[in-house]
Amino acid sequence: MLKVAKFGGSSLADEKQFAKVKSIVESDPGRKVIVVSAPGKRFSKDNKITDLLYLCYAHIKYGVDHRPMLETIKDRYREIVDSLKIEFDLEGAFRVIEEDLAKGAPESYLVSRGEYLSARITAEYLGFEFVDAKDTVFLGYDGSIETEKTYEAIRLAYSKTKGCIVVPGFFGSLDDGEIALMSRGGSDITGAIFAAALDADIYENWTDVPGILMADPSIVKDPYPIPKITYDELRELTYMGAKVLHEASVYPVKVAGIPVNIRNTNDPEAAGTLIDESFEDDDMKDDKFYITGITGKKHYTIIDVKKDNLSLEAISAVMQVFVSRGIKVEQVSSGLDVFSVILENGVNKQSVYSIAAEIEKMTGGSVKISEGISMIACVSRRMVFRSGISGLIFGALGENNINIRLISQGARELNILIGVADEDCDRTVQVLYDSFTKKGA
Ligand code: ASP
Repeated sequence: MLKVAKFGGSSLADEKQFAKVKSIVESDPGRKVIVVSAPGKRFSKDNKITDLLYLCYAHIKYGVDHRPMLETIKDRYREIVDSLKIEFDLEGAFRVIEEDLAKGAPESYLVSRGEYLSARITAEYLGFEFVDAKDTVFLGYDGSIETEKTYEAIRLAYSKTKGCIVVPGFFGSLDDGEIALMSRGGSDITGAIFAAALDADIYENWTDVPGILMADPSIVKDPYPIPKITYDELRELTYMGAKVLHEASVYPVKVAGIPVNIRNTNDPEAAGTLIDESFEDDDMKDDKFYITGITGKKHYTIIDVKKDNLSLEAISAVMQVFVSRGIKVEQVSSGLDVFSVILENGVNKQSVYSIAAEIEKMTGGSVKISEGISMIACVSRRMVFRSGISGLIFGALGENNINIRLISQGARELNILIGVADEDCDRTVQVLYDSFTKKGA
């Protein structure tokens, strides 16, 4: 059994968190490949090491003495190293950083030291070997991963170890050997790459939340975590605005068919959220609810075209109008006499009006524009097995006097989309969450 476990910044924010990581790693001999972020915030007003490193480089760039800032960063690591009582030459490590900076090392180098030091310290603390991302992860100049070269290097480097390693996340190197950073939060990607390259049985992503939540916690208080979610459902939720694990950070494992398990370092007993292509035993016994998640996105525009017996040709001509003007259509929904086109947020008002006029002329129907519409997505792979979901939605929203402007079901029965006025968006998410999580829903 090979598990790749990635620990985020909050899981390594101080010595207490490091101790939790150690006990998690030691509780399962399968956890052999550990990927780490730089220490994150210890409390809400605290600074992440990565942010401090960016700031430190800004000092250098603008000719301000950067040493006090580097000292502050060193102090954070010092506290950790001292309390963990490990042998680690922090002074030496910072001396090397200073020397490299004096030689003109770039921002990417300095910022990458957050993860680098975090991994060196974790390796020492766990008694694992350190494998540098600089020698194993290769990035193109556009930030993309050079997959083949990277996977080969990871396999080779791993084969030379005894099998238990710690790797810094978030960076790699360019063809010329210079360090390059991924986008913020990139350690998730490093973890996924190592899991895919080493054909891990599972990729565990340890963080400080109970998993992917059923709804946005800023709208719904303490929403339930989702026990199991498919990659397709995750994509629907992310696309419709849910701020969950970004698709790019699971892509390598998704392609390799490796499941991802989001876990909470502060509650290691909890199962967290399991993401997979599909679930063999999808008998819904583990999942309390038929709905996987609910999310909402504001500020859409809907164009309704009303005409008796709208022909397919007319509909395709209408679509052509959008295509020819390069306007992205988010969704379409069609009935016998009405055809609705949902446009992404931020489409220019003037173009919408001129398009509406053109469509009216073309179809001979009447066109209505509704702005300020929110789209709420109720996502669930189990809709296929369950009747009455839209009935429940209509009932719940009706009882709460929320006017439904549009309802549409995706072709794969993975989601139901509901259009409501922007001012009803949050309330709709809450009302739907409440009704779907009620017993038996
Ligand atoms: N430390 C980096 C950041 O703060 C990368 C990561 O945590 O994944 O974005």
